[in-house]
Amino acid sequence: MQAVLKALGIEEVNPGGFAGQWIGSGKTQLVRSPIDGSPLASVVNVTPAEFDAVLASCHGAFAAWKQVPAPKRGEVVKALGDELRRNKAALAELVTLEMGKTLREGLGEVQEMIDICDFAVGLSRQLYGLTMPSERRQHRLQEQWHPLGVVGVITAFNFPVAVWSWNTAIALVCGDPILWKPSSKAPLTAIACTKIAEKVLRDFGFDPAICSLAIGRGSDIGDLINTDPRVALVSYTGSVPGGRHVGTLVQQRFGRHILELGGNGAVIVSEQGDIDIALRSIYFGAIGTAGQRCTSTRRVIVQKSLHDEFLQRLLDLYERTPIGDPRQAGNLMGPLVDPAAVDTLLAAIETTKAQGGRILCGGERLPLAGGCYVTPCIAAVPGNLPIVQEETFAPILYVMPYGTLEEAIALQNGVTQGLSSAIITNDQREAELFLSAIGSDCGIANVNTGTSGAEIGGAFGGEKETGGGRESGSDAWKAYMRRQTSAINYSGSVELAQGITLEL
Ligand code: NAD
Repeated sequence: MQAVLKALGIEEVNPGGFAGQWIGSGKTQLVRSPIDGSPLASVVNVTPAEFDAVLASCHGAFAAWKQVPAPKRGEVVKALGDELRRNKAALAELVTLEMGKTLREGLGEVQEMIDICDFAVGLSRQLYGLTMPSERRQHRLQEQWHPLGVVGVITAFNFPVAVWSWNTAIALVCGDPILWKPSSKAPLTAIACTKIAEKVLRDFGFDPAICSLAIGRGSDIGDLINTDPRVALVSYTGSVPGGRHVGTLVQQRFGRHILELGGNGAVIVSEQGDIDIALRSIYFGAIGTAGQRCTSTRRVIVQKSLHDEFLQRLLDLYERTPIGDPRQAGNLMGPLVDPAAVDTLLAAIETTKAQGGRILCGGERLPLAGGCYVTPCIAAVPGNLPIVQEETFAPILYVMPYGTLEEAIALQNGVTQGLSSAIITNDQREAELFLSAIGSDCGIANVNTGTSGAEIGGAFGGEKETGGGRESGSDAWKAYMRRQTSAINYSGSVELAQGITLEL
């Protein structure tokens, strides 16, 4: 553990702010590992005055950064990706130590960071604007994309480094500096990543405040980001209530936001589907990251004719789940992030029972090595009970039966969140219906693969209370730039649009 911390420049006590130099004189928090409760290191939060200094230097860095040609900015992102490749093993282990996901998932998360850097390097030469035919003689109509300004990136604990990288790699090539406020449940990985970015920016001779950091409580530092007009875009990842608060504050000042909020992923298992594919996809989707992914599978909607056989095979898998130290390769499930998360799971189990659900396995505290371990739970429910409507951020899987595909789609869509969904079927008509305008209402709709494990090449995000934001691949970059439309007249006379005449 000490070797990993040292390799990433984590000291015993670390300032939690970076404004081109490291600062922090607020409250000190000791970070403990959910694996066994052992102390990792301490972080000193920034005060509101220090936050102001961080934002001022980040905002100041925009003046020069926006003038750097985009392909040159891409070279910086290429070097960032290379530096992440060099630090992949250490960073993955720190993710595991700090928030408890298995090491193989930690490695996958850092790979995602590398992948988005590669994507952004290509993008740096493809920030295309359109040219449109003008309705006026000898006029040209065009649009260009310009850098937007400071991007405030507020992240959740469960993807402590990937979400920063999705935003940062894209924002950097778009010409925007970044101010990161990570979750206080995973501040050490944020310090490690900022140090990596600092090195890269310094190597190129750019202002390192382009990648700034401010660690502190959401209710004070977060609200300073939400309300300050120097932050052009707030990219917020977190719970639905948090997003409602952030979105309202940012909207009040007509700032931009990308909201990436809670999910309630469901998989429809049709009798036309491959049951082995269904089992593997659902099992990983439900127990991966100990059920703490926004795209985790929380509901299985299974055709009545298959219900009992499917459930029995799933129960067999659940009962064999290797749970324990997530650094050990054999374990498929590590701890929850903290003791409060364990209490939330236990409370949800009681509520499920009270509302008529039947607990078929798991949902118990597992006293292992002083860590925050639980057993993964399956509950049989008749439909979307009130507790099923909630995103309990823990490994509880609700299984419900359906008759017709239309009923299954109604169950799938019958929650307030709209992030990720899937159908397991080999019937093309069923798959097409699920993907059609009367099918899944989610931002992600998969066929024969589960709800979690999205690739960076697509735009990531969801509808309804998931917030409507998109980040990562496809054309999500457009949210990080301002669009400018221009009419250019080379006719030598004045001609008004819509045929309006001007007699002088
Ligand atoms: P959370 O809502 O508790 O915290 C998220 C972030 O918001 C943290 O950095 C927190 O400090 C900050 N915050 C708190 N108050 C704030 C305020 N007033 N202003 C600004 N920021 C504030 O979420 P969490 O427990 O860290 O993460 C779990 C949640 O995140 C789940 O709901 C999960 O579905 C969601 N999530 C969504 C996505 C997605 O892409 N849709 C990805 C990962 C996680």
